[in-house]
Amino acid sequence: RAHVAAIEALNPKINALITVTAEHAIEAARASDAKRARGEAGPLEGIPLAIKDLFCTEGVQTTAGSKILDGFIPPYESTVTAQLKRDGAVFLGKANLDEFAMGSSNLTSAYGAVLNPWSRRNDPDARLVPGGSSGGSAAAVAARMVLGATGTDTGGSIRQPAAFCGIAGIKPTYGRCSRFGIVAYASSLDQAGPFARTVEDCAVLLRSMAGHDPKDSTSADRAVPDFAAACTRSVKGLRIGVPKEYHIDGMPAEIEKLWRQGLDWLRDAGAEIVEISLPHAGYALPTYYIVAPAEASSNLARYDGVRFGLRAAEKESDLRDLYERTRAAGFGPEVRRRIMIGTYVLSAGYYDAYYLKAQKVRALIARDFREAWSKVDAILAPATPSAAFAEGEGSDDPVQMYLNDVFTVTANLAGLPGLSVPAGLDPQGLPLGLQVLGRPFDEETVFAVGAAIE
Ligand code: GLN
Repeated sequence: RAHVAAIEALNPKINALITVTAEHAIEAARASDAKRARGEAGPLEGIPLAIKDLFCTEGVQTTAGSKILDGFIPPYESTVTAQLKRDGAVFLGKANLDEFAMGSSNLTSAYGAVLNPWSRRNDPDARLVPGGSSGGSAAAVAARMVLGATGTDTGGSIRQPAAFCGIAGIKPTYGRCSRFGIVAYASSLDQAGPFARTVEDCAVLLRSMAGHDPKDSTSADRAVPDFAAACTRSVKGLRIGVPKEYHIDGMPAEIEKLWRQGLDWLRDAGAEIVEISLPHAGYALPTYYIVAPAEASSNLARYDGVRFGLRAAEKESDLRDLYERTRAAGFGPEVRRRIMIGTYVLSAGYYDAYYLKAQKVRALIARDFREAWSKVDAILAPATPSAAFAEGEGSDDPVQMYLNDVFTVTANLAGLPGLSVPAGLDPQGLPLGLQVLGRPFDEETVFAVGAAIE
């Protein structure tokens, strides 16, 4: 009830939740109480969560932040949310997001912007973005509306909003969580993961979310370790890599300083700091912005006015007219831009020059990491190149927005786990995050390093 009251008080201003399911949640919480009384409590019994509105939830509207899915009520539940429910979690609502998870600001949502609960010391009225695309999830946790939330991360959409909102968030290894029932953006990059106030809480949530699922052929058939236990492991003797290519031009001094501070903390805890090179890191951003839109243009072909959500047709419409009207009315400007870029890079005559080349560079980026793992056990880097920015500060320039993802997209291209840990404040009092990357399926080391920094 305290969390429901927080939602009632804060959501009208913060707009973190598109749909609030408070009544349903209170009923579920009562059932949790009864289970607890019978000694049958699950690991998440009664824990209030928000679910990014990209996860299909049976009987509860799922919009993906788009007008084209307005009113879409899925007849089935995503595997990740089904597992959270199985373990006792209670869902308080569906969290706002950039339309189809495309963005780093939450400004592209058809359901309005989300306000970051933090504010600048010297300019408290500036409307700061929570980051994106999982901005509603991160803001809901930061504002204490819920104890945790789900997100998805295709190029940074868990790690960047976690950093902007001063909380923890992890994108696990590609294949760790099932993508079944999650609205697809770029299928070879998309992964689900949790947000919470602490690294350990993320570990607890991830254990419930992860696991093999026969309904997603890319989900890995691997045992799910006790991630929370890994949070208390010592980092003594671990080799922590510092990629020299991540010292990018124009990085604010406070981010360089925080990064050095994080390395000092790990050194003090007994870790060894090793400089490494990821020679193709500089190509990650352009590679991502070819691969992700290409896959998106294909995935979004299904929104045609026939099967899901919005149908914008005149009585006399033929099929083509129905498609055109529905897609013109249903998709916002950023989604259209991605569909056009994706269609272009996949088209005959351009495929070899763009898509195929991007796939080759993606392989080189993954190879850089494989070589790095022979020298180090984890990598420490900034999560973002800045603290939360205000609405309007570059947000109308798409390329400027894409630059926000410079430190995050590599993990998706290589399929690696990445954890964003709140690590300090900038001179305006805004949170800054550090990012821990690890070997595929070695989230345990990532959690140990993250907990040591936190
Ligand atoms: N900002 C990136 C994009 O717009 C990443 C989004 C995501 O991870 N879903 O594509």
